[in-house]
Order: sequence, then C-alpha cells, then structure tokens
Amino acid sequence: MNARIPISAQTCARPEPEVLRERGQREVFCGLTGIIWLHRKIQDAFFLVVGSRTCAHLLQSAGGVMIFAEPRFATAIIDDRDLAGLVDANEELDRVVGQLLQRRPDIRLLFLVGSCPSEVIKLDLARAAQRLDAQHRDSVRVLSYSGSGIETTFTQGEDACLAALVPQMPPSHAPEPSLLVVGSLADVVEDQLTGLLRELGIARIDCLPPRRARDLPALSPGTRFLLAQPFLGDTARALEARGAQHIPAPFPLGEHGTTGWLMAAAQAFGISADRVQAVTAPARARARRGLERWKPLLEGKSVFLFPDSQLEPPLARFLAQELGMRPTEVGTPYLHRALLAHELQALPEGVRLSEGQDVERQLERCRAERPDLVVCGLGLANPLEAEGFTTKWSIELVFSPIQGYEQAGDLAELFARPFVRRERISALIEEAHR
Ligand code: SF4
Repeated sequence: MNARIPISAQTCARPEPEVLRERGQREVFCGLTGIIWLHRKIQDAFFLVVGSRTCAHLLQSAGGVMIFAEPRFATAIIDDRDLAGLVDANEELDRVVGQLLQRRPDIRLLFLVGSCPSEVIKLDLARAAQRLDAQHRDSVRVLSYSGSGIETTFTQGEDACLAALVPQMPPSHAPEPSLLVVGSLADVVEDQLTGLLRELGIARIDCLPPRRARDLPALSPGTRFLLAQPFLGDTARALEARGAQHIPAPFPLGEHGTTGWLMAAAQAFGISADRVQAVTAPARARARRGLERWKPLLEGKSVFLFPDSQLEPPLARFLAQELGMRPTEVGTPYLHRALLAHELQALPEGVRLSEGQDVERQLERCRAERPDLVVCGLGLANPLEAEGFTTKWSIELVFSPIQGYEQAGDLAELFARPFVRRERISALIEEAHR
C-alpha cells in the first residue's frame, strides 16, 4: 500500500551531499522584503520600518502599493539629523508611532522593523518596542525584529518576524495534542492543506502566523509543529524552547513533497499510512495530471539554482524527483541541515550544494556547466539571458502559491515557461530571417 508514497517520514541512510561554503559578495534581497507577504497575511498588523529612503524605495517598488491604498507598512526615515545625533531618534520614533496609531486605529499589532541604518546608529528597537508596548498596550501590541541586509537575507525576515511572535503565544494546559503549521502560505493553500490534515483526523490545528493578531495560537505541552517553509530555523528553535515538538518532514512541494509532509503529521498523531493514502488519493491524481502536462518539456534538462530564498533544496528535490530534471548546483543563502534532512536525502547523487555566495565564482561555475535552465535573482537573469542562457526569476517562486497538490502543476509550469518563451523567440527570429 505504501509503494505510491515515495517519501516516508523517516530519512534513509544515504550520506548527505558535500556542501561548498562561500562567503563572498552576494546578490540576495534583504529581510525587509518579507513584509510584502507578511502584511497581507496578518491582516491587522502594521510594519513600520525604521530605515532610510533606500529601504522605503525597496518596499514601495516590491510592494507595488499605491500611496492612497493605505498600505499596512511604511518607513520612518532616519535622516541626516538623526545620523548627526542632532535629534533624539527615540523621541522621533515615539512621535511617529503616536501619529500612526491615532490615524490607523485598526492596527492591533505593530512591528518596528530594524534596517541597516537603524543598526548603524545603534538604535535599540527591542527596547523602543517595550516602551511603546507599555504605552499603547490597551489597543495595540508593539514588537520588533530586524530585516536589515547586514543580518538577514530575503526570507529570513519572515523567520525573524515569526520568532518575535513566539514569546507572545499564550501558554495552554490543554491535555489534547495540537498541530501548529508554521510559515506563511497563501490563504487558499493554507485552507487546502489544513483541510486535508483535518480529514486525516487531526482535530486541533493552528497556524503561525495567524490571519488576525488576536488569534495568535496557544502553546501547550502537547503542541507539535510542522514547518511549511524551510527558512524558519530561528522560529523552530524558539518554539522548541517553549516546549513544542518539531515534526521532521519534507516540504509540501509537488505530489511527493506534499504526501511526505502529510504523512509525517499523520505519523506524529498516530494516523495510519493507509488513511493518508485514502484521503489524498483524488488530490494526488490531480497533482500527477498537472505534472504530466509539463514533464515532457522538462525531463532530462539540467538546472543550476543560485541562492535566493532557502527554498532551493526542496525545489531541486521536486525538479529531480517529480519532473526528471538534473540539478547540477543547488545554492542556498543558509542551509539548515536538520530542517532539510528529508530533502537532502532525496537529492540525486552528484549534485553540488552551495551555501552562501561568492557571485563571481558561482557565475564562472555556471558558465562552465552551461545548464539548460538557470534559476536566479533579477539582477543576474538579464545578463545571463544576454549570454544565451534560459533563466527563471527565483522571486516568482516566493510570491506565487506553489505548495500543495493543487499547485503542483502550476509549480512545474513556472519552470517550463522560460523554455516556451525561448522557443517562441527563436521561432520569431527564424521567421524574420526568412
Ligand atoms: S535594510 Fe539595508 S539592505 Fe535592506 S533596503 Fe534598507 S539599506 Fe538596503
């Protein structure tokens, strides 16, 4: 019966691939970028970045929000007077927060988000958050975390944000076990996955982050947590420090990843593999159909993944195991070996794993290998396209709903599109020369 579920919740004994560690120049967004999806996810939270005009431009362009749409993020600009020590930055911050809360009484949770400039002037945002929390506690909670490019890359902003929420989760002495799904997912994906977990027979399921700040779930001695994203190492550590138990699992990408993820939860709650098979059979069949459409285009093609979001190892596993692609190098900004144990075991032998970045050296390796597809950030994609490479913007993989059975085909299509585009361009060029 288990033959159709290729990833069990146990890891096999194959040695993990060697890791090439690089600490040179990197081409990765900073952790502020996480605000773009976090402000949509926690609907009564506000993210106040204490930063520079550069930080404001990053958020405004990445968020793409019109100024009159009252977005739930903003930047308190540290200007020359703050940098020169001519004004008290804490007093300025208190004034800005007071104005903001007066204007936006709907805010229930305010994050002060640190940046490179706030770190450079050594503004203690943790202490500022404590002070402001005490002042405004009747109506709003105030917390802080760092999204600075000195301390964080891209998705680590979410990790820092969720780790800041963990100490606020109320304790519970409820005896029954509960499952906590950790990591931001698009609401529709979260509903699909928690729906399947309920169908399996898990009665109590909570999500972190919650959709409303007031719904921050409680932690009891029976809480077990399942990560939905691979970049949440600090959050996992904070949850374990509060007594919650981690359920080791692959990540819910594709048919195999989603089945392995559900299977791990089922095992932790004493639910049989047969039950998982029965509940997931229709959705697995739909996922397979979605994948079959794109597999002929992708099978056998080599792929080189530059580091971006820490999603790279699970994505490479998906591409190899479910679409027959050949990852040559899999880069990731940080490698949480324990959290990625299942994914690392399932990567094909011979793949090069790299952690961190030395962008010039990595480009040299990429050029030498001439992969069929390069998955990389925006800054590298255009120059590589000009050199004749076919590229995929890695940022799309973070901003698109890709987890779960129903999205398996869409995820495959994201990797197929660059080939379709290149074929069309080649056909147009040929026609023009005729
Ligand atoms: S936090 Fe640092 S890296 Fe990020 S936008 Fe601001 S200045 Fe740039």
